[in-house]
Amino acid sequence: MKRLLLIFLFAFFVCAQTQQWKLIGLSGNSYPIDVIKDGEKGYFVPAYQIWKNLNFIRTSTGDTISVKINKNELKMFRNDDKCYFNATAKNLKYSTLYTNSNTYCDIASFCELMNAASGLYFDHNASMKEIRVGKTQNIDVSKAKNIVEDDKISGIIVIDPGHGGKDPGATGPGGTNEKDIVLPISLEVKKYLSKYKNIKVFLTRETDSFIALHDRAEFANKKNADLFISIHANASEKSPSVGGYKMYFLSEAKDEIDEWTAKLENSVIDLESKAQTNGLESILLSLANNEFIKESQDFSIMLAKSFGKNMKEIQKLHTGVGQANFYVLNGASMPAVLVETAFISNTKEEKLLKDKKFQKDVAESIGGAAIEFCKKYVSGLRDK
Ligand SMILES: [Zn+2]
Repeated sequence: MKRLLLIFLFAFFVCAQTQQWKLIGLSGNSYPIDVIKDGEKGYFVPAYQIWKNLNFIRTSTGDTISVKINKNELKMFRNDDKCYFNATAKNLKYSTLYTNSNTYCDIASFCELMNAASGLYFDHNASMKEIRVGKTQNIDVSKAKNIVEDDKISGIIVIDPGHGGKDPGATGPGGTNEKDIVLPISLEVKKYLSKYKNIKVFLTRETDSFIALHDRAEFANKKNADLFISIHANASEKSPSVGGYKMYFLSEAKDEIDEWTAKLENSVIDLESKAQTNGLESILLSLANNEFIKESQDFSIMLAKSFGKNMKEIQKLHTGVGQANFYVLNGASMPAVLVETAFISNTKEEKLLKDKKFQKDVAESIGGAAIEFCKKYVSGLRDK
């Protein structure tokens, strides 16, 4: 039985191999696609999957898949070398392959037909394992990203410099207060984002003033923000040597350290004069945010990657992304992430946090990730 299975598997791999490729759209976004290599015939691509990723108008009925681009319509059939381009019958180089619930078309025919139908240029590169869509022939992948002009990126972003006024936040061994570090970083983020014409940036505070936690999320709701970023510096109760950055999105804390971090950031609640939210209200508030957990998580990963790329002086802490219940994120009706930039309780990082160059690097890492987020989720820049 085992031998039979092995022979079967061997035969399958000789005939057809599935490879993971990348489809790079006009906007520079990348989508994974399965590509089949069928011996001499070469590569076959999943036509419908590609149309779907590129947001083309498509239908799938019975054995037929079709796509409409501008005024052109293209129809293909399962296991058939015939296709229709605007009601004119054409022959594909090879019959399509129908497998894994997908109709695969040979790559040369596919790119040729798509070029004719879309007026765009579909190019493929087997050694890079990618198909890229450009406005002109021989488009450079690295330049494809720049096709999206900065002006087309839009979004409303609220930056929340943690603490302020009577709430100093955490204090470092050298006497630095968290509230005095996160404000200049936040102002730098604003400066970075202001370069984008259609990005609107608001800060919950621009001076050393006290703002209650729930008023911060409320501010973002009133501004109709697409993204809420609360900026902080971390502190460790017991270990002065612990350091690094970490991003948090709202959810129940996964481990003790994350719970401690949330407790630390939430401790300001005691300083607030307004009554604390009651149980039911806080459940409703957290539901308001639950809708956005996927986006929030995605943004915290973008942030962690951006920090990893730009920041040389500092390491990520653990996984770099954590979940915990932060009051400041509660009640935000949009994706919301809390950034712990570095440890103010760590002598070396306290010094870094005071350094203008470091503050600017942090701000650019946050700003860069925010732009990436707006491109993906806000601006409607997915391929059309
Ligand atoms: Zn804080």
